[in-house]
Amino acid sequence: MSRTLQQRLHHAIAINDTLAQPIARENLRRLTFSAALAVPFDLIHIVVFWLNLQGSSPEHDGWRMDIIRVHATMALLFSLLGILAWLASPSRRDAPLWYMQLLTVLGASLVLGFGVAITGADQQVTSSITPFLMASVATALIILLRPRLAVILYILALAAFELVMTFTQANPQLRLSNQMGGLTICGIGVILSLILWHGHVRNLRQRKFLRQQRLELEEKNRQLEYLAGHDPLTGLFNRRQFDQLVDMELSRAARQPAPISLLMVDLDHFKFINDRYGHPLGDEVIRHTASLLRNHTRNGDSVARLGGEEFLLLLPDTSQPQARLIAEKVRRLLEETPLPMKDGLLYLTASFGIACLDSGVPGTYACLYAAADKALYRAKASGRNRVEVIEVGTEMGTFD
Ligand code: GH3
Ligand code: MG
Ligand code: MG
Repeated sequence: MSRTLQQRLHHAIAINDTLAQPIARENLRRLTFSAALAVPFDLIHIVVFWLNLQGSSPEHDGWRMDIIRVHATMALLFSLLGILAWLASPSRRDAPLWYMQLLTVLGASLVLGFGVAITGADQQVTSSITPFLMASVATALIILLRPRLAVILYILALAAFELVMTFTQANPQLRLSNQMGGLTICGIGVILSLILWHGHVRNLRQRKFLRQQRLELEEKNRQLEYLAGHDPLTGLFNRRQFDQLVDMELSRAARQPAPISLLMVDLDHFKFINDRYGHPLGDEVIRHTASLLRNHTRNGDSVARLGGEEFLLLLPDTSQPQARLIAEKVRRLLEETPLPMKDGLLYLTASFGIACLDSGVPGTYACLYAAADKALYRAKASGRNRVEVIEVGTEMGTFD
């Protein structure tokens, strides 16, 4: 297909709003399904009318042949359209929107054209226009047409119907009656199509609204879950979440014996920083320390803000000497990484209290916590900016 023709088709048919994609996809599904039903229906008609050709009334052979021709054409075109719709259906590949909409228009035109052709052929034996009525209703039921498109297609179908009646119905009274009947049928088709279109659109909008609500709710839940377990200033775990993590690690260590260490960190003379430079800078110092702690511990370690300028670190599978090394490393890093301020650098230090449970030694969170607190107090009392360690089970005794 040349590019200009493709562009013209695109402008004439494609409507690209939020409903266009789901409706085009739904129409393709319906076209595939209808083609699968309609083609055998056409073939049955062809066989029945063909068998009747050998029947008793040769004066009607022309009518029978016309009906066979219309059904054969319909079977051919509808199976072609059904295959194209099936190939373009979303589960197989993503066809362009304009192409899906073109197949939809062709499908509607084919069903309406079929109704006109059969009714025209039937005028040789009957004045009935029932096939046109059925085609008109079927079009509205099967294919979701935008109101403007529905009006255009039914007007074109009516024009074709009136023209065909002019040539096929010789009786002027019957012709007039059929032509007026055709007008009513197209009116019914348009109204039915509008009702079904609006019903489907409302349904789609409601589904979209519900989906959006669900997504928003899920997002809100995620935020709530995050807030429930994290400290808003630093993004570290809060006490609540940290307590749960420690309980989990302690029960894991009870099942598979491994050492475990708890670090309590407290910035030195933080009150002075707050008083001298103000709370906003104090907050900045807390964030700075938090990211340093987070970035220089392992993935399996948990870092929490206990409150104020105090932090807790849980180091699973970490023995006392390892925990001391880690604490020393972080202590030195903090000391050597001053916080840039407007007028200079702010040097920080912190004191570290470590409590360790050796592999296989039973202990509770409460005893670890108390031991880390005691070690921290010792570090503060011994001059700050230092690491002190208490081994639970020796100095503190064990608490089961
Ligand atoms: P030490 O070396 O003995 O630890 O002295 P310190 O001044 O750090 O000790 P202290 O616990 O007395 O000071 C903690 C201060 O932290 C007191 C409080 O005003 C401040 N603080 C608590 N929470 C926050 C916070 O969220 N932001 C800021 N900027 N300050 C906080
Ligand atoms: Mg403190
Ligand atoms: Mg302090």
